[in-house]
Amino acid sequence: MKTVWEKYESYEDIMSFNDLYKNFLDKAKTEREAVETACELAIEHGFKSLDSYETLKTGDKVYVTNRGKNICLFVMGRQPLTDGMNILGAHIDSPRIDLKQHPIYEDNGLVLFDTHYYGGIKKYQWVATPLALHGVVCKKDGSTVKVSIGEKESDPVVGISDLLIHLAADQMSKTAAKVIEGEDLNVLVGSIPSKDKDTEKDKVKKNILDLLKEKYDIEEDDFISAELEIVPAGHARDLGLDRSMVMGYGHDDRVCAFTSLKAILDIEVPDRTACCILVDKEEVGSQGNSGMQSRFFENVIAKIMAKANEFSPIALMDCLSNSKMLSSDVSAAFDPNYPSVNEPKNTAYFGKGLCLNKYTGSRGKGGCNDANPEFIAQIRKVMDDNDVMFQTSELGRVDQGGGGTIAYILANLNVEVIDAGIAVQNMHSQYEVVSKADVYEGYRGYKAFLKDIK
Ligand code: MN
Ligand code: MN
Repeated sequence: MKTVWEKYESYEDIMSFNDLYKNFLDKAKTEREAVETACELAIEHGFKSLDSYETLKTGDKVYVTNRGKNICLFVMGRQPLTDGMNILGAHIDSPRIDLKQHPIYEDNGLVLFDTHYYGGIKKYQWVATPLALHGVVCKKDGSTVKVSIGEKESDPVVGISDLLIHLAADQMSKTAAKVIEGEDLNVLVGSIPSKDKDTEKDKVKKNILDLLKEKYDIEEDDFISAELEIVPAGHARDLGLDRSMVMGYGHDDRVCAFTSLKAILDIEVPDRTACCILVDKEEVGSQGNSGMQSRFFENVIAKIMAKANEFSPIALMDCLSNSKMLSSDVSAAFDPNYPSVNEPKNTAYFGKGLCLNKYTGSRGKGGCNDANPEFIAQIRKVMDDNDVMFQTSELGRVDQGGGGTIAYILANLNVEVIDAGIAVQNMHSQYEVVSKADVYEGYRGYKAFLKDIK
């Protein structure tokens, strides 16, 4: 059973690439932070905003952002855009817990934030663990306040309580789905009463609001126009005595986002225009103006074509129809603790490289993009020619469950698409795990795709 580890004499490149990745994960805990970090990296690598170009020519490096939650990058190729692009697409939102619009309340001397979880989580994983608060507060005067509390060693953290085992007889007899209920995911944030003489009621809440006023210049009403996300506090770590894996929050799908981003940052001038799009809202269905279903992507391509002097409605259709894409999203890695959910021949394993999923979906491939075999054959050749290790898998045994990605959305625009990502253990938990070998090989695979797919 050959693995990526056996392929390389030295692990130096694998390890140093993963150091860059861990750094990205730590800086990009929300979709907005991912876009900011991607922008910084793009600028460092010579990319300029689309607005700063009058016209576009071969070799130009362009980025465009959308509402601070999407970024789209291009390296203009030698061939006309009507010949199609090679596209990498990944999502930068991850399951988490969001604050409600009226979040703050006091209960018996404790102040809590009420929340509504985002995406598919096992709620019981989010209690009795350090959490951080990230996001933005948009004020009536048009200004936006950025918040990040809980990441620096000197920062406080917040957290959700769990019932002590001594009194948990009733709780322990509930099913895992009910043991912690969504409405009970209330985040503890304070317990010191205000010394303000005029405040008689909710003195602890008053004290917390005063702190927020002092530090961020925000009022209670400003929560109405805020987007504040509760995520696991702390940084990504090496896992394993041999440091072969990374444990961290948000591998789904920032592991594919980072490797795709790095691939487009590092490529030479390609024949076909290279594109990388990082989108929001995948975990809740990809809708909305920052999700993959947003017209943003088509609009950007139209603008790119216009600046390359190639735009017409038919040319845009040709560009999409001739484009090829890897929908870069994570796969479920085989877990020796839970072998029964997989069918071993068609399962992703740690260390076996980039993972292609012909289809995802559930109950008889429902809702999936089923990639065309002609396209898969082409990818096999490019991966083999570039000495990239890859594997193929399904998301679990037939009728065990399932899931979806952004693949079908681009396929609906007549783009040729297949899911290709990195295998993850503990998916959607606070601390997901990936193999460093797969992260590195994924990056190499994405680069090969941008460079060589015709
Ligand atoms: Mn995903
Ligand atoms: Mn997911």
